[in-house]
Amino acid sequence: MSSARTGVVVAIDGPSGSGKSSTSRGVATRLGLRYLDTGAMYRAMTWWMLQHGVPVDDAPAVAERCGEPVIETGTDPQNPTIAVDGTDVARAIRTAEVTCAVSPVSAVPQVRARLLGLQRAAIDGGGIVVEGRDIGSVVAPDADQKVYLTADATARAARRAAEEGGADLSATETSLLARDRIDSTRTASPLMMAEGAVHVDSTPYTLEEVVDLIVGLVEDAG
Ligand code: C5P
Repeated sequence: MSSARTGVVVAIDGPSGSGKSSTSRGVATRLGLRYLDTGAMYRAMTWWMLQHGVPVDDAPAVAERCGEPVIETGTDPQNPTIAVDGTDVARAIRTAEVTCAVSPVSAVPQVRARLLGLQRAAIDGGGIVVEGRDIGSVVAPDADQKVYLTADATARAARRAAEEGGADLSATETSLLARDRIDSTRTASPLMMAEGAVHVDSTPYTLEEVVDLIVGLVEDAG
């Protein structure tokens, strides 16, 4: 990419298991950009709530405590890091316990407001690929390139089950669809295709093909 575009912001949104993380990291690496995984931040917030015994379905209780955790994210696409109160939680935030609890925590407006501030600070200056659910619509509506990445539910469940070391396929699909439902129907910043986003259905493509396609979009947009 040209040096004139070092401030570029690429927003990649989509449902669970659509390949957002691998795709976003691949695009960032190819274009020499930073990378921010906002889902990891919601997971880190959720991990902290569970650690502190906050009932995750009690929105007022979550809202009251969500200013407390110190969440730090690294933006190297080759080595994305996430720490809460100085503890590396990269593995801890991927457990089934956190995965089950993250959608209700993410639906709390005060949680979103807190993380929005951290996300905008990380994006400041650009040169970054940001993945999530509301990046093109809320976090970075002026992004240079917006992508809405999907895949059919069975393909998404198969990918997630493989990532989770061979978890049960139909249970994975059920849990993924349950999260999609909460994420798309919540009042605060629901998952949706942002205005101006390009819809990419990754079902028939390899990771490399999807990365190529998005790199092409970013370069053409420049
Ligand atoms: O991307 P990942 O599956 O790790 O995201 C975990 C959860 O975090 C999502 O199911 C969603 O509830 C929440 N999330 C969100 N907004 C974002 C990113 C993630 O609400 N921008």
